[in-house]
Amino acid sequence: MPFDIGSVLPRLAEEVKKYSTPVVDLIAVQTRDPYKVLVATILSARTRDEVTAKAAARLFKPAPDLAGLARLSEAELERLIHPVGFFRNKAKHLSQLAGVLAKEFAGRIPDTVEELVKLPGVGRKTANLVVAVAFGKPAICVDTHVHRIMNLWGYVATKTPLETETALRAKLPEAYWQTVNSILVAFGQEICRPRLPHCDRCPIGADCPRIGVTPRRIPGQKRATPAPGGIKKFISWNVNGIRAIEQKGFAGLVNEFDADLIGLQEIKAQPDQLSDGLKNLPGYHSFWYPAARKGYAGVAIYAREQPLRVVEGLGHDTHDGEGRVLTLEYADFYFINAYFPNAQHGLTRLDYKLEFNRDLHRFVDELAAKKSVVLCGDFNVAHREIDLANPKQNEKNPGFCPEERQWMDAFLHSGYLDTFRIFSQEPGQYSWWSYRFNARQKNIGWRIDYFCVDEKSRARVMGAKILAEIMGSDHCPVQLDFL
Ligand code: SF4
Repeated sequence: MPFDIGSVLPRLAEEVKKYSTPVVDLIAVQTRDPYKVLVATILSARTRDEVTAKAAARLFKPAPDLAGLARLSEAELERLIHPVGFFRNKAKHLSQLAGVLAKEFAGRIPDTVEELVKLPGVGRKTANLVVAVAFGKPAICVDTHVHRIMNLWGYVATKTPLETETALRAKLPEAYWQTVNSILVAFGQEICRPRLPHCDRCPIGADCPRIGVTPRRIPGQKRATPAPGGIKKFISWNVNGIRAIEQKGFAGLVNEFDADLIGLQEIKAQPDQLSDGLKNLPGYHSFWYPAARKGYAGVAIYAREQPLRVVEGLGHDTHDGEGRVLTLEYADFYFINAYFPNAQHGLTRLDYKLEFNRDLHRFVDELAAKKSVVLCGDFNVAHREIDLANPKQNEKNPGFCPEERQWMDAFLHSGYLDTFRIFSQEPGQYSWWSYRFNARQKNIGWRIDYFCVDEKSRARVMGAKILAEIMGSDHCPVQLDFL
């Protein structure tokens, strides 16, 4: 049955009246001031509503209008809006805003998307939101919630927010253009969350096809222990600093992963720098293999089951001083968690990286001769053109240079499988995005995190996916379901 948007959106509009209003709508309701809506919208990108609301309140005291904004220095702006996400960039854009508006638009806030995107720090999403919220004109603001929820409803089948905007312009009745963003942002924050939505208490649960949705585990419900030989769930994630990610709800995420083994890379910490909470996550044994240098590299594994044996490193002094490889042996497989070196700007570490790759390959071959091997981690290479957004521009850059790609070719041809590509040949599937240029929002990314298995174990691979919705690091986790 086709998804009945005309029935669902009005019901959700009623439902979300019970939730807290997204901050940009709130500012519009309170002031109807396009300047404040524009500034609050710029502040709100990649920032929680509570943080945006406080920063906007601090900023609007000395800068209640464009003239006030023009009087503030970039340093004062940084101080006022901190800690919103990317506050330095946003302060820079805000410090340019009054000048650009005066020069290009005679000091008025433009009311079209085409004009608004010419302003510093304003992309299509912000522009659409300002047009809809501040000026009450038809515009569809597609942010991550609208893009995600429209796809899981099957109302559109798109890869990027921009594709979703185009599809909705053609399909969504105009009566919903202005309100769809605020409805789905509120609904997406409260019920249909990116990670494990509350389908159990969703008011439109009966209408929703739940495409690609993993149901939330009900609190208190015991996890079904996989039967011996049952399907096991493995996660690999470059967390880019485990102490930083601990502050972003890491323990809750581990609970929601509900995985049997979790391989982490770039932990950037020694065990004596870790909290008890990290060292003793309920239900897991933890294994740590840090780099000798503090705050650099390092890998770790959380395991539900005690392994038979733990192997630290590759038995090679240089690699092992960098905390790059940690292996757990189980009765019928090895789990190898690896953080491959980065070839670095100018490919200054390419030779070292290729040496590491060769040594790791030899190590994996030795283990694969005995039993199944699962190799996961941040390989720091996008294998083929399909695995990054801008292959042509990166042909000579670290992570996509010919030598790194040739090694990946040779590795796979020698008898290993890139499990994700068993299931998906789709482009636009990435696991790492630069923190710069809004790259994650625009899905300008790279697929450099992998689960590989030896070819003989192909029949044990039951699923592989990229958990792109999980935030907290510049990488997202990847998953393997293994029999
Ligand atoms: S049923 Fe689940 S996936 Fe569907 S809209 Fe509701 S919360 Fe979202």
